[in-house]
Amino acid sequence: MSPTRVLVLNSGSSSVKYQLLDMRDSSRLAVGLVERIGEQTSRLKHTPAGGESRERGAAIADHDAALKAVAEELAKDGLGLDSPELAAIGHRVVHGGKFFTEPTVIDDAVLAEIERLIPVAPLHNPANLTGIRTAQALRPDLPQVAVFDTAFHTTMPESAARYAIDVKTADEHRIRRYGFHGTSHAYVSRATAELLGKDPSETNVIVLHLGNGASASAVRGGRCVDTSMGLTPLEGLVMGTRSGDMDPAVIFHLMRVGGMSADEIDTLLNKKSGLIGLCGDNDMREIRRRVDEGDEQAELAFDIYIHRLKKYIGAYYAVLGRVDAVAFTAGVGENAAPVRAAALAGLEELGLAVDGERNAVRGEEARLISPEGARVAVAVVPTDEELEIATQTYALVIGSGNHT
Ligand code: ADP
Repeated sequence: MSPTRVLVLNSGSSSVKYQLLDMRDSSRLAVGLVERIGEQTSRLKHTPAGGESRERGAAIADHDAALKAVAEELAKDGLGLDSPELAAIGHRVVHGGKFFTEPTVIDDAVLAEIERLIPVAPLHNPANLTGIRTAQALRPDLPQVAVFDTAFHTTMPESAARYAIDVKTADEHRIRRYGFHGTSHAYVSRATAELLGKDPSETNVIVLHLGNGASASAVRGGRCVDTSMGLTPLEGLVMGTRSGDMDPAVIFHLMRVGGMSADEIDTLLNKKSGLIGLCGDNDMREIRRRVDEGDEQAELAFDIYIHRLKKYIGAYYAVLGRVDAVAFTAGVGENAAPVRAAALAGLEELGLAVDGERNAVRGEEARLISPEGARVAVAVVPTDEELEIATQTYALVIGSGNHT
């Protein structure tokens, strides 16, 4: 009998999120999070299926210590990493560049390529690499699989992926649109087709992944043909703390006239812009509360957010030509009914509408919020990146048809 468990690791610079799944029924055996690694105030929160959460507050010095602490917690529940039931470890890797188009079993050559991509993902890839190396040291015999955030977008045609800049310079520095949140866009576009009872290969979907980071994608027949994030996750929609699209000359202006350094502008645009820059809050719940109280600054921030979103919906409608569904996902997309209603308001001529009652219903399941008989379905589809990483990992090491 083949092993049935997959451990999914999402290693950030100071955090590790993990889930242990049983692939026989895609159930979670345990989930958890280690935060503030390297600080005195580190915290590990571990929740076994059907059990009470446990917390540890002691300092956790590095990723190695973090993963060992996770392994200890799992062992307490009889789910130790030394178990023969563990089939593989699936790692979220943010940047896979142009060449990693599929989940990939990690070997030295793969590690070297992820490392080579550090210049285009300076925050994420080093943390992902540390997580992989730590896990390899713990279970050197086990297949480790990299699932790339960029992979789903590698099907974009050159007309969408290339920026209109000098080709030689672009190629020398590997500048192109890579896109991110790919695991979510893949999962949600497929789940949307399933919700409609259609084959993903015959379904065109606009996916709006609206979390703290946010991105849109145009998916034709299961393949991504355009996405809003670019060389880095800065481009595209207005996000919690990122500006999204703007005239690149703003950067020269801030350097020449504002006297700011490249690093200062990087921080400004990635951490102090978007909703937080516009109104001081990046949580959509707080922004809506302020809007309801008549706060004009929050209202303007909301309007700018919606205006950009609407532009991308229109753009991707044109890119696809025929749209079967618009799917909202992630923290804002799954929970903020006013965002969904405002983003599609006035688009009835395009066959797009939101039913007020359906939109107001909260739920954990994928559901339709368009009116009965609408030409284009509008859906709320909760994303599940960990399940998608586990599914892809398991399919690669065991085979998708064999779940026992
Ligand atoms: P990320 O993975 O990018 O950190 P999430 O997908 O978890 O983000 O989304 C987080 C965001 O979702 C929060 O910043 C908040 O704006 C929004 N959010 C979460 N719950 C709600 C809610 N009930 N209503 C409105 N917005 C919400």
